[in-house]
Amino acid sequence: MKVIKFGGSSLASAEQLKKVLGIVKSDEERRFVVVSAPGKRNAEDTKVTDALIKYYKHYRSDRDVTADQDWIINRYKSIVDELGLHSTILEKIAAAIKDLATLPIENNEFLYDTFLAAGEDNNAKLIAEYFRQEGLNAHYIHPKHAGLIVTSEPGNARILPSSYDKLEELRNSDEILVIPGFFGVTTDNQICTFSRGGSDITGSIIAAGVKADLYENFTDVDGIFAAHPGVVHKPHSIKELTYKEMRELAYAGFSVLHDEALIPAYRGKIPLVIKNTNNPDHPGTRIVLKHSGESVPVVGISGDDDFVSINMSKYLMNREVGFGRKVLQILEDLNIRFEHMPTGIDDLSIIVRGRELTPIKEQEIISQLTRKLEVDEVSIERDLSIIMIVGENMKNHIGVTATATRALSEQGINLVMISQGSSEVAIMFVIKTADEKKAVRAIYDAFFKDL
Ligand code: ASP
Repeated sequence: MKVIKFGGSSLASAEQLKKVLGIVKSDEERRFVVVSAPGKRNAEDTKVTDALIKYYKHYRSDRDVTADQDWIINRYKSIVDELGLHSTILEKIAAAIKDLATLPIENNEFLYDTFLAAGEDNNAKLIAEYFRQEGLNAHYIHPKHAGLIVTSEPGNARILPSSYDKLEELRNSDEILVIPGFFGVTTDNQICTFSRGGSDITGSIIAAGVKADLYENFTDVDGIFAAHPGVVHKPHSIKELTYKEMRELAYAGFSVLHDEALIPAYRGKIPLVIKNTNNPDHPGTRIVLKHSGESVPVVGISGDDDFVSINMSKYLMNREVGFGRKVLQILEDLNIRFEHMPTGIDDLSIIVRGRELTPIKEQEIISQLTRKLEVDEVSIERDLSIIMIVGENMKNHIGVTATATRALSEQGINLVMISQGSSEVAIMFVIKTADEKKAVRAIYDAFFKDL
């Protein structure tokens, strides 16, 4: 039994929906279909979710919302017309979109989420209708009836663990269930969404809930590439990745799948595959708990910019009990998350995301480090990027770092910092952002050119 999730670009037009139908029909184990809202048809287009945000803002500020409603309804209408669906489905969708502008504004912390969720909810109704017209025994199910109960955190819901028992009952359904992604309901019956891109999370939750044999996540690329295609020319798509590797790659710029989507499938031990709606015969990328058989030491290379390093040194730092804690306390008081903390004997660097460090916070950190912690030197280094070289199997190989650093030195790239966690899932290099693309290309070539 498989749970299959389609992203917005796979559902953007009638033409795409025909491919979706073909994919669902081609395998009778595909019993649970989780859908996003219609996405962009081309680069200039607007996602329905973004149109709903605009509609919400206009409604809140008491502006005329007719144009917003018409735009969204027309978006569904063009799909309904092209698929030749009965007009009653469009009437239902139009009424649901218009009804949003009758909801109370005051004391309604779930209003925004209710607007946003309408994108997925109406799309699921439309798709179930289309499947039925094409002879599938399919049914729309609202997350509330499916049992997808979430915490009351608008825009950032989390699944309540108690939901899983109810979700498991969905296994007994003999129909194909079409489930809107991206939201659940709270115990008080309020619509509450996950963070943006959260339909992936719904798919993962349903897969864990029904104890699926596979969670198939369909998008518009042939799986996960070993490097960013905007940086490396035609990188290969990775056949198999472990959850840990995926997390490391996603951390530094790989955004095919929502970060949080891995958790339910991982805990439920459900294998996941990322596939392409436009090329369904391509095997895509499988995400598994453990590699099956022989695997290469490095699976992928990612790079991400906007990192800042707060560097400090103090003579005999290593002998001072509690020094690290005090530094981190300064950051905590300023509500700054830190990402990495490479250390030397007498120096310590804290790497944070650039957006976390406003000029005022930067000044405060420098002043506290100098006054309270009496460091000898402190400096802030901006425009840094990190490069992650990822592969669980590197722990069994000698020379991975040597290969990577040789590639950098051949390109004349200076390594600012280097760090490797004890789990040896990834090696992290910190370099100047100006060198990032060149570095990713050089390291990619060093590991994969001869493959
Ligand atoms: N439609 C939502 C968004 O654009 C959720 C999703 O597509 O996964 O963020």
